Amino acid sequence: MEISYYEILEITQNADKESIKKAYRKLALKYHPDRNQGDKEAEDKFKLINEAYEVLSDDEKRAIYDRYGKDALRSRAGGSAGFGDFEDIRDIFTSFFGEGFGGRKSRQKNNEDKFSADFVVGLNLSFKEAVFGCTKEIDFIYKNSCKTCSGSGAKDGKMQTCPKCQGRGQIVMKQSFLSFAQTCPDCNGSGSCASDKCPQCKGLGYEELKDRVELKVPEGVDSGMNLRVNEKGNITKNGIRGDLFVKIHAEEDETFIRDDEDIYIEFPVFFTQAILGQSVKVPTIRGEATLNLPKGAKDGQRFVLENEGVKSVRSSHIGRQIVQIAIKFPNSLNDEQTKLLEQLSESFGIKDGMHHEQKGLFDKIATWFKGG
Ligand SMILES: [Zn+2]
Ligand SMILES: [Zn+2]
Repeated sequence: MEISYYEILEITQNADKESIKKAYRKLALKYHPDRNQGDKEAEDKFKLINEAYEVLSDDEKRAIYDRYGKDALRSRAGGSAGFGDFEDIRDIFTSFFGEGFGGRKSRQKNNEDKFSADFVVGLNLSFKEAVFGCTKEIDFIYKNSCKTCSGSGAKDGKMQTCPKCQGRGQIVMKQSFLSFAQTCPDCNGSGSCASDKCPQCKGLGYEELKDRVELKVPEGVDSGMNLRVNEKGNITKNGIRGDLFVKIHAEEDETFIRDDEDIYIEFPVFFTQAILGQSVKVPTIRGEATLNLPKGAKDGQRFVLENEGVKSVRSSHIGRQIVQIAIKFPNSLNDEQTKLLEQLSESFGIKDGMHHEQKGLFDKIATWFKGG
């Protein structure tokens, strides 16, 4: 019998969202690879925790899992991208703990390597490209550890004590009356450097190569998300190629304001439409939708159009469009309109330049004057 996602997160079947989140945070911190370097068991556990959280934190996936089990989620046609397909599980992680913890380097920089196997490139997308997905060609430069010097940068592998820091790996910087230790820039803190530079890589320890990927950006990505492209990162000394992370920056739109999966729009409504409670057509990211205004809709009132927002990148959920109306009055009136509005005004009982609500207020104040 397989361990259930609930057991993995050490919670009960009826745990609410908040408890799931709490349990995930606790366990993810405990088993995070950056805290358990080289511990295969912790790494596997970390993956399972993320898998469990991805399912249980999503109402729809959780319902499917509860009813039909894990296999139903895997076989779901046209469903989400699947576990670890391209989506960095750390993405979920950093959204919890911020950029500072965990970081992007899922493969930690080996001390003997001058660079890490994974690296990040930025990708700018238009509002539409991010909302609907797209295919992008990305040109980038990656590092390939120099074979001639095994990545050391030293000719014939000969190293000497770093002359800048005398092998301490740190140098003391002085700024006015303050002094502080800093990692030696010449040896990167290792304390040793090449006696002579490797002629192949000129002492760098690596060569820089061009590469290109065609990236399928899924529907619903947003700024700050990272997409993982397997084995397109740097090649380290051991010959293993890391992963490339593509960090999304999505542009904003003039009309539609995006908040995760929800879209906000301010929509002008003519005062007669608001008073009469007419149906109006409003633009949506996919075209248009009908908004049935209630009679006497107020300026600034918000209306929700379900399923008119952005599709979630992690599930099949579609967000809402929130329409905030701004009531508009005419800037000028022609003779006919003036006449009609005067008639309308009269029909509302406005006499001697006064409406009954205004009159009521004057009556109140009259007693107030007397009393004073
Ligand atoms: Zn040094
Ligand atoms: Zn070299």
